[in-house]
Amino acid sequence: MHSDNQDSTSNAYDFDLLVIGGGSGGVATARRAAEYGAKVAIIEADRLGGTCVNVGCVPKKIMWYGAQIKESLSVAADYGLDVTDNGFNFSKLQQARDTYVARLNGIYDTLLAKSGVTLIRGYGKFVDQHTISVDAQHYSAAHIVIATGGKPTRPDIPGAHLGIDSDGFFELKTLPQKVIIMGAGYIGVEIAGVLNTLGSDVSQAFRGDKLMRGFDEDIRDHLQQQMTSEGIRLLSGHQPSQLETVDSQIKVTWQDGSNEMVDCFIWATGRIPNTAGLDLEKADIKATAKGLIEVDENQHTSVPHIYALGDIIGEIDLTPVAIATGRKLAARLYQNQTATQDFDLVPTVVFSHPPIGTIGLSEQQAKQQYGDKDIAIYQSTFTPMVYALSEHKVPTLMKVICQGENQRVVGLHIVGKDADEMLQGFGVAIKMKATKADLDNCVAIHPTSSEELVTLR
Ligand code: FAD
Ligand code: NDP
Repeated sequence: MHSDNQDSTSNAYDFDLLVIGGGSGGVATARRAAEYGAKVAIIEADRLGGTCVNVGCVPKKIMWYGAQIKESLSVAADYGLDVTDNGFNFSKLQQARDTYVARLNGIYDTLLAKSGVTLIRGYGKFVDQHTISVDAQHYSAAHIVIATGGKPTRPDIPGAHLGIDSDGFFELKTLPQKVIIMGAGYIGVEIAGVLNTLGSDVSQAFRGDKLMRGFDEDIRDHLQQQMTSEGIRLLSGHQPSQLETVDSQIKVTWQDGSNEMVDCFIWATGRIPNTAGLDLEKADIKATAKGLIEVDENQHTSVPHIYALGDIIGEIDLTPVAIATGRKLAARLYQNQTATQDFDLVPTVVFSHPPIGTIGLSEQQAKQQYGDKDIAIYQSTFTPMVYALSEHKVPTLMKVICQGENQRVVGLHIVGKDADEMLQGFGVAIKMKATKADLDNCVAIHPTSSEELVTLR
């Protein structure tokens, strides 16, 4: 049987551990391994912090907060506040956001240095099973971690390059007036909500019949209704066949032959793994046809002392998952611990308008897995009290899915204001196998939205 910590103190190599990719998973692995005493280097081709810090969670959440603050102005007058909205300076928000991100890049640099991790700037490629090249320099290590993440992709249609993607969204210097977002996953609905709230005329197009495939059907329907009533034009069953520049606008031709003009077209059609340039074949590392790296439950690739984690393995593409997986790997390698990452019951929030918080099975998945008779559904739709004084109301939907005689909670879904901050604690309870009775036994906190989750009937 392979031991994770074999070779780890070998002097035959430059480092005990080499990590390729200075994003969420790579930095977490490298720092933790160094704290445990390993001699570690991390290779990063771009800005430290990876997708999350530079073109993901962090700048996205800043934009989302900007939109939230603007949105709260819609009820301000009902609370007696005499606020005049004198306009919105997109460029000011963008510059402040970028300054914040740059500060985080510096903090990552400092944290790595403090942990004793050697930072190697450049693009890493496999030379052999223990050696990585960066430019002309070779670095060897007993163990190697691949944490190279992913990047946006778009369909190959004429003029596809005229659109931007989520990376391009974070490069916008002005608010686009009229925009089409193509795609209905996390990134599509998040960008649509932000731009719509900040003042763009937003259409969101998708090839399926609804937004957010794979989510609970009621959650999908509720989100669609709210996005529509907030002014977003949803175009189901749409796929572009061509983009062209006409009079400095973008002409979008749909597959049904119709067309329309926009200022900005945003591709939110998924992401692909950053494996193409790694020269995996030089180390005999197996990848799927899509470029994802195959690993076992210990993150071993097909080469036992080479590991992969984060978005590159295509398990659950979330920052805290990459971080937790990396920390557990470091503990297995250098602390003789055995815990592996559990990818079940991972809570997640979509920062849509309104946000979605979800953990576990949808009603459809639960019924398919356990059979209709074994599943009980508890559900409530209500208007959060913040809208009590206003005509503008955004209802919340909550749904708890229970299984078996003791009604274990196997799914919990919220779409509505503050869903993002409600879910974490319920996630802990569900991970501890909470039942409906456990939820009901917790006295409600009044008046809050989350109390609905412990009073559902
Ligand atoms: P990354 O963070 O992508 O890091 C990979 C790093 O490797 C990059 O810095 C890259 O430059 C570097 N690299 C690649 N190849 C090489 C090479 N050969 N040599 C050297 N360096 C290399 N997740 C959440 O949990 N919450 C959110 O709110 C959220 N919002 C998101 C919003 C957007 C728009 C996007 C795109 C993603 C979002 N995510 C969110 C997902 C999250 O960003 C990723 O799951 C996470 O960053 C994955 O971490 P990682 O370490 O696997 O890869
Ligand atoms: P998703 O997989 O969530 O969505 C991709 C969307 O693109 C889907 O609507 C999909 O349609 C559509 N699509 C894919 N290929 C095509 C095509 N060829 N033509 C037309 N439409 C297409 O990916 P995202 O890029 O939005 O997000 C990637 C991951 O990043 C997420 O899964 C999530 O893990 C993470 N993330 C997390 C966030 C958070 O935690 N808040 C925020 C942003 C990202 P269909 O459904 O029909 O396949």
